Amino acid sequence: MLLAQRGLSVLVVEKDPFPRYHVGESLTGTGGDFIARVGLADQMAAFDFPAKPGVKVVGREGAKYFVPVLRPTWQVRRAEFDNLLLEHAMAKGAEHVLGTVTDVILDGERVVGLTLSTAAGDEQSLRCSMVIDASGQGVFMSRKEIAGPRRVAAFSRQIALYSQFKGVEPDVGEQFNSTVIFYRDTYHWAWLIPISSDTVSIGIVLPTTSYKLRGGTAKAAMAWGLGHLNAELTERTREAEQVEDMHVSRNYSYRVDPFVGPGWLCVGDSHCFTDPIFSFGASLAMTEAEAAADTVAAAIADPSAEPELLASYAHYCNTGQGRASELIRYFWKFPAFFKFLTQGQYRDDLIRLLAGDCFTPEPLPATLEMRANLDDSPVLQRIPAGRARDIAARIYRRFDFFQGVDAAFLELCEDAVMISFILSEDDIDLYDSLRDFEEQLVADFGRDDLAIFSFTPDIIDAMPSVANAFPIVDRRPAAQRAMPQAEGDGGGML
Ligand SMILES: Cc1cc2nc3c(=O)[nH]c(=O)nc-3n(C[C@H](O)[C@H](O)[C@H](O)COP(=O)(O)OP(=O)(O)OC[C@H]3O[C@@H](n4cnc5c(N)ncnc54)[C@H](O)[C@@H]3O)c2cc1C
Repeated sequence: MLLAQRGLSVLVVEKDPFPRYHVGESLTGTGGDFIARVGLADQMAAFDFPAKPGVKVVGREGAKYFVPVLRPTWQVRRAEFDNLLLEHAMAKGAEHVLGTVTDVILDGERVVGLTLSTAAGDEQSLRCSMVIDASGQGVFMSRKEIAGPRRVAAFSRQIALYSQFKGVEPDVGEQFNSTVIFYRDTYHWAWLIPISSDTVSIGIVLPTTSYKLRGGTAKAAMAWGLGHLNAELTERTREAEQVEDMHVSRNYSYRVDPFVGPGWLCVGDSHCFTDPIFSFGASLAMTEAEAAADTVAAAIADPSAEPELLASYAHYCNTGQGRASELIRYFWKFPAFFKFLTQGQYRDDLIRLLAGDCFTPEPLPATLEMRANLDDSPVLQRIPAGRARDIAARIYRRFDFFQGVDAAFLELCEDAVMISFILSEDDIDLYDSLRDFEEQLVADFGRDDLAIFSFTPDIIDAMPSVANAFPIVDRRPAAQRAMPQAEGDGGGML
């Protein structure tokens, strides 16, 4: 719609007939801003989407706090909301085809068009000035190896089970129609989002390992979540009736890089998605879409400026996504301090960040404070300052939250730096992420005397002692922490 209203010729290719179910019902303030800017605020009222007053967090023992929205926004039924956006785009002059994009057309390095298979069964080839990949978790450009590979990121290896329910006790007063986050332990949480006067969306989120322990089926894990995750959730859903199919998403946190190139760019989930706890997804996608529209329109007007425009778009997206991700990391690492930040001197910043104001040219003071705390680890201070500590800091930043990497050790032997990772399983996604990380380390610190090893449970016995190594990350249960110790040498070389 943003390009069509500038008079450009736009084709929207969508594979699913709308309206269709989609997860992601709670919008942030920037989502609300977008809706108002494109002139849909009145229609939102006509659809009776609940106005969202804020986010309420309920801790394991029942402690609660509330963060209000900065600007008016809504809870939406995505089937209707996405259809509204599509119809609005068409009203602005965009053309819509029901079909699946199957491939890109290249002219040398440049993307110059697409092939698609329409619902009517036609195969079509289309030429265009610019392709925008908005394929969501389908990561189309990445799958076609035009964009970079999809790499699992922090917060992957989680599973979410969700559906819609009636008969759930509502919040009252100023918190009526809030998003509620029920928090139990790290990475165990639930959402409750009112999406109409009598229906709420409820999702239970667990690490994959925990899901297996809770019966390993969506039904069993949902029953466990409603019954045991949080006492308030249990109480409020006592009379609840499920009125939608159960949906399941897993391993949904990832990044694609690069995500722009000659003749194309990615928007929203097609290049990045991070843990949904603060409902950033749809609003980030809308903020990026506005920047993408500016970029594409300017690149079409002045093709010689395209490389610079694309680089600046990528920087903008990375800034916003990065700050949203830092906020989420901080919540999981320091939940009690997070609550404190929402009440104390950084309250206004936290309200802004939760509204999606993650794209400001300079980071807000709260972001700097959180970043300093996240980057600070006592073990790093024990490593001699210089190359080794810089490498350790990089490992810490990347893997402190990385499920699947149970531990990472760094050992110094004269000038050599040896890094050992203990992985929870033999998994190609984990190896790919480690390989990328190694390439980045080598590019930034040089290959000389830098060795990286990884060990999975089946070969852990082959791992030499790490008694003299610095444990940069160690999430293993206490019983496993004494391991591994090689016979005799008590200290060594990998
Ligand atoms: C468990 C979970 C909970 C979430 N909760 C929230 C929340 O509360 N609030 C929030 O804002 N976000 C939430 N999100 C995130 C949200 O769902 C996404 O971030 C958001 O929908 C991204 O929008 P998008 O336009 O990038 O992709 P999508 O909305 O996924 O749209 C992509 C579209 O592309 C189409 N498509 C894909 N491939 C092709 C192809 N080859 N050809 C043609 N069409 C194609 C798809 O059919 C789809 O309609 C959640 C996500 C998860 C996993």
